[in-house]
Amino acid sequence: KSGFVALIGRPNVGKSTLMNHLIGQKIAITSDKPQTTRNRIQTVYTDDRGQIVFLDTPGIHKAKNKLGEYMVGAAERTLKEVDVILWLVEPSSYIGAGEQYILDILKQVKIPVVLAINKIDTVEKEKVLAYIDTYRKVYPFSEIIPVSALKGANLDTVLEVLMKYL
Ligand code: GDP
Ligand code: MG
Repeated sequence: KSGFVALIGRPNVGKSTLMNHLIGQKIAITSDKPQTTRNRIQTVYTDDRGQIVFLDTPGIHKAKNKLGEYMVGAAERTLKEVDVILWLVEPSSYIGAGEQYILDILKQVKIPVVLAINKIDTVEKEKVLAYIDTYRKVYPFSEIIPVSALKGANLDTVLEVLMKYL
């Protein structure tokens, strides 16, 4: 199996940490060059189940200028070309403007979206269940997986689920 995954999420949610963890685990290549205007391959992950090419799509936010508009356009096109979208969020019971903006974009694409709620090592278990509930109500996610990119918790579940959609 082999396919493309768009990794989306606001700055600081833990995208790089997640990628770094995959690198430490298995054969993977990562690139963290300063962002140009295009989407880029961030990581290629391979194991005996298959290969996942993660595409970094940094333009998923409200555009403030022409370059921003171009980036958002490129990012939105990327979302239509991948096999599955992995959306990383922080644990929060509140869906902010940034998340709402992403949700509106997701509603226009018809590919599976896997939501990973990251940093669960920082919150209580019952709260995580409440966050899952909150997100379940706003979008038909293929799966919602609580994870800790830092501790490596549940990351294999994420890979397992992503592989299902390749
Ligand atoms: P990015 O901007 O989405 O690439 O986010 P980073 O991977 O750079 O992470 C931003 C900050 O969140 C860093 O200080 C990370 O150490 C921290 N972080 C990422 N994942 C976790 C996690 O699962 N738990 C905790 N406690 N911190 C995390
Ligand atoms: Mg990063």
